[in-house]
Amino acid sequence: MKSLKELYRIGVGPSSSHTMAPYAACKEIKSKYGEDCKYVVTLFGSLSDTGKGHGTDEVIKRALGENTEVIFDKTRTELPHPNYMQVVAKTNKGEFTHEIISLGGGAYSLDGNAPIGEEIYHEKNFSEIKEYCLKKGIKICDYAYEREPDIKDYLRLVWKQMKASVKEGLDAKGILPGGLEIERKAGYLHSQISIFHPAEAIENMLVCSYAFAVAEQNAGGGIIVTAPTCGASGVLPACLEYMQNKKKFSDDKIIDALATAGVIGNVIKQNASISGAECGCQAEIGSACSMASAALAALHNMDIEQIEYAAEVAMEHYLGLTCDPINGLVQIPCIERNAVAAMRAINALSLAKFLTQTRKISFDVIVHTMYETGKDMHCSYRETSKAGLAKTYKKA
Ligand code: SF4
Repeated sequence: MKSLKELYRIGVGPSSSHTMAPYAACKEIKSKYGEDCKYVVTLFGSLSDTGKGHGTDEVIKRALGENTEVIFDKTRTELPHPNYMQVVAKTNKGEFTHEIISLGGGAYSLDGNAPIGEEIYHEKNFSEIKEYCLKKGIKICDYAYEREPDIKDYLRLVWKQMKASVKEGLDAKGILPGGLEIERKAGYLHSQISIFHPAEAIENMLVCSYAFAVAEQNAGGGIIVTAPTCGASGVLPACLEYMQNKKKFSDDKIIDALATAGVIGNVIKQNASISGAECGCQAEIGSACSMASAALAALHNMDIEQIEYAAEVAMEHYLGLTCDPINGLVQIPCIERNAVAAMRAINALSLAKFLTQTRKISFDVIVHTMYETGKDMHCSYRETSKAGLAKTYKKA
């Protein structure tokens, strides 16, 4: 398993493959040429097919400058990869062409050089990690710090950005881009808490407003943290923001929870998938819910068995969840799904508190089951927008 830096990526939404990677790659190219340069960018394959809806052209212009022409080429079919693009830099010394492949999860290769992440975590699954931690008498977060001594500083940046995304999303107003005419609702939800009385209703409304805030920031092309993906980026920050506000957990405690959730996300990434295109939404929202539930269990000083149960039960009831975003936009059903998963993560925490002793299913079994289910899922339900809601939706 690789660094948690590769799981928690800070970048531009709404899609790790269609905006985050192209933005980062273009920034890297711009750093070679400086300000006095014009660019022509050509998008091919999936970047061309759904790039307009995702706002790929907009983030490219944000990275390279407004003096950039973006071409959507739908004619070329012989491609080195489904997510392929070319950038021509026009300088006073001549023209230079760069090739970019968006590899998924925010990773990219530039001119054939793919970032090859080092394998830092040698344990292959959760049971090996648990065995190691129990033998050494350490917590999951300590295991992460042992393997990545500098990761705490990075997780501080992650937490800072997550909080910023919540705040920016709560403050933002207006219609999300893409043509579905969806109004941002995070601020509205947050403003409604004063009319609710039972504590549970207030809790639900607060958690939902935070999840909507980040998911709407993502849908609007704002900066978010993949947790583990752009589409599911609202679940973990919503749970952590709510619990920190409610119980005054220190930032250090939150960092420990992020490290714990990161290890859970890494186990899923290594042994199954965190990609909706590969295994449906169970791999994105299900994984995010597992990570959030494990983070909450760590925050509440639960032991490793309880953390495992929390992560397992959170994933178990997302098995089979399809990916069917309307018009290829990460909006319906994605935004609401973040809110529902954040509430479910809190429910999973309650079950873990009382039922861990009685459980029959390990986290590794549920991860394997999710992968098998994803492989059996018809391809039209794996981020193609050809089935499910994407097919049946009719604009009123
Ligand atoms: S429906 Fe698809 S695009 Fe939306 S959050 Fe789920 S996996 Fe991501």
